[in-house]
Amino acid sequence: TKPYLGDPKNTIEILKKYDFVFQKRFGQNFLIDTHVLDKIIRASDIQKSDFVLEIGPGIGTMTQYLADAAREVVAVEIDKSLIPILKDTLSSYSNVTVINEDVLKVDIRKIAEERNEGKPIKVVANLPYYITTPIIMGLFEKKVPIESITIMVQKEVADRMKVGPGTKDYGALSLAVQYYAEPKMIANVPSNCFMPRPKVGSAVIQLLRHEKPPVEVDDESQMFAMIRASFNQRRKTLVNGLKNSRELNLQKEEIEEALTACGLSLNVRGEMLTLKEFSDLSNFLVRKRN
Ligand code: SAM
Repeated sequence: TKPYLGDPKNTIEILKKYDFVFQKRFGQNFLIDTHVLDKIIRASDIQKSDFVLEIGPGIGTMTQYLADAAREVVAVEIDKSLIPILKDTLSSYSNVTVINEDVLKVDIRKIAEERNEGKPIKVVANLPYYITTPIIMGLFEKKVPIESITIMVQKEVADRMKVGPGTKDYGALSLAVQYYAEPKMIANVPSNCFMPRPKVGSAVIQLLRHEKPPVEVDDESQMFAMIRASFNQRRKTLVNGLKNSRELNLQKEEIEEALTACGLSLNVRGEMLTLKEFSDLSNFLVRKRN
């Protein structure tokens, strides 16, 4: 049987064999717990017909599990010193392709086109925490066909994806995630399941893509610009937050008119608005201008 890296003994051996040096700037915390790996794989519900994209395979710990379960796996890894290691640890699999690139620069939509006939793919990852938000937002905004995203993130970020208005964690990420997907907590993961141990708690969260967003929006980019502007200046009222945005270029009177039309108070703060209220406001402003 092949040496599964979920067993810490095998991970240590491979790291030694290649004199691997952890790169902090790449957010490298490798999983060394088979229970957590099992949980992620079970939650991601991979079928033998599935195409899976893995972001940041590291030494290939989760990749081995994914390759066992899926038809095909593409894994994107930025650190070139991991490439020879992956070649070694994944040598017994013929259904894995490793791409040595920054995932933010990879055209994932094209990969889905070429390798999965443009059909929705499953994304599974133990994400590098320093770029969690750009990675998730990129997948959604670039219209990558996605069925589900099952990811390990910082616990606090997982919480932010789930919460609603009026809580301190509520923000642009919560609204974007909930517009595109249904977030579901899978597991909390303590630091001792990783090598080296991260300083923060982690959690596995799954984002199941909505077939249709829960609200109707005329102009998505306008709405998200509005959401960003209102959370950029959290302490300000929504009117002031929006008025100061160059991107939006809105006059105070226009914003006040829209708030009134949507039944919102003129001194409401952005953090109190639901997704529906943001979409109503956005639609009103967009329709007014057209
Ligand atoms: N999947 C492995 C595991 O679970 O043990 C490693 C997870 S580790 C938290 C994150 C991985 O993402 C590292 O291997 C790191 O080198 C890689 N990474 C960091 N930034 C990246 C980027 N911009 N594009 C692709 N991979 C990246």
